[in-house]
Amino acid sequence: DLYNKLIELKGNIRVFCRCRPLNAEEIAEGASMAIDFESAKDGELIVKGHVSSKKVFKFDSVFSPEEDQEKVFEKTAPFATSVLDGFNVCIFAYGQTGTGKTFTMEGIEGARGVNYRTLEELFRIIKEREGIFLYEITVSVLEVYNEQIHDLLLTGSQPGATTKRLEVRQVAEGVHHVPGLVEARVTNMNEAWEVLQTGSKARVVGSTNANEHSSRSHCIHCVMVKGENLINGECTKSKLWLIDLAGSERVAKTDAQGERLKEAQNINKSLSALGDVISALATKTPHIPFRNSKLTHLLQDSLSGDSKTLMFVQISPNENDVGETLCSLNFASRVR
Ligand code: ADP
Ligand code: MG
Repeated sequence: DLYNKLIELKGNIRVFCRCRPLNAEEIAEGASMAIDFESAKDGELIVKGHVSSKKVFKFDSVFSPEEDQEKVFEKTAPFATSVLDGFNVCIFAYGQTGTGKTFTMEGIEGARGVNYRTLEELFRIIKEREGIFLYEITVSVLEVYNEQIHDLLLTGSQPGATTKRLEVRQVAEGVHHVPGLVEARVTNMNEAWEVLQTGSKARVVGSTNANEHSSRSHCIHCVMVKGENLINGECTKSKLWLIDLAGSERVAKTDAQGERLKEAQNINKSLSALGDVISALATKTPHIPFRNSKLTHLLQDSLSGDSKTLMFVQISPNENDVGETLCSLNFASRVR
C-alpha cells in the first residue's frame, strides 16, 4: 500500500527534528511557544496557528526541548554501528542560526553532543569486536566557506596562516578523493577528540568573529574506517561525516551587500543543492546533481549507494521565529 511505498522510498534517509528550549531572554520577554509536542511520540510536530492554519509535520523522531543529549543519542547510536559494518554515514544538523545545530553536534561543557558520543560509541564497539575485527581509524576536519574547501588540520599548528584550498577529484568510478587532505591516524577516543579539537581551534583562530563565521560555513568532521574481518579476511572501507551546516536563515537582499551577500548566496546555493541531492536520492531519480555545490561533491560517495543519512532539523520554539521554522520544516519534509 501507499504507506509501505513511502517507507521504501525513504530508504536510508532519516530525519529527526529537534527543538531548543526558549532561552532566558525569550522567557523574560514573555515569548510564546509556536510548537506543540503533543504527538511527538508518534513523530509528529505541530506548528500552532489558528485551527485552520495549524500545520502538522511528520519525522522519524521528534525531540522536544525537554529531551537531553542522551535521549537524542539513543536514536543516533545505531549509525555508529553501521559505519563499523562498512556503511558510509552522513549526519547533518540543519537550521536557522541559534536553533542548536552546534549544541546537537558538538555539544557544550557537561552536555556532550553527537560528535563526541558517536566517536565514543565507535571505540566502544571496536573494543567489543577485538580479536574478530581489526580497525584502522583516521580523522579529518574541514570547512566549506564561500564554496571553498579548507583543511583545518593543516593550519591547526600555524595560527593565522592562510588555509590551503582543497579540491574534490574523481580517482575512479564512484571514488572521489581530496588530494592533500590531512588524515590523522588515531587509536583511541582521547587521540581522536584531541585532533577534532585542534580542528575546531584552527577554525576560531582563522576568523575575526568566530560566532558569525561558524554560522556561515559548514563545519565537517570525517572519520574514515578501514575494517578487516580476521575470521574470513573480508575488508571494508567506510566514512562517517559529521556536519554542522551553515545557518539556513534567509538574508534579505537589502540587508546584505558585498562580501555578506556573496556569503549568503553561497550558503543558499549549497543548502539547496544538498536538499536537491537528498530528495533525488530519496525518490531514486536517475540523475543526482552532486556537482552543484562543493559540499555535495565532497560527500558524493557517502550519500549514494547504500549509504545512510541522518538529518537533524533544528528549530526554535519561539513564535517570532515561525517563518524560519516553517522554511526549515518544509526543507526537511522535502528530503524525507
Ligand atoms: P546554532 O549552532 O544552530 O547557531 P547553538 O548550538 O549555538 O545554535 O545554540 C544556541 C544556544 O542555544 C546555545 O547557547 C545553546 O547552548 C543553546 N541550546 C541549543 N539547543 C539547546 C537544547 N536542546 N538545550 C539547551 N540549550 C540549547
Ligand atoms: Mg553553530
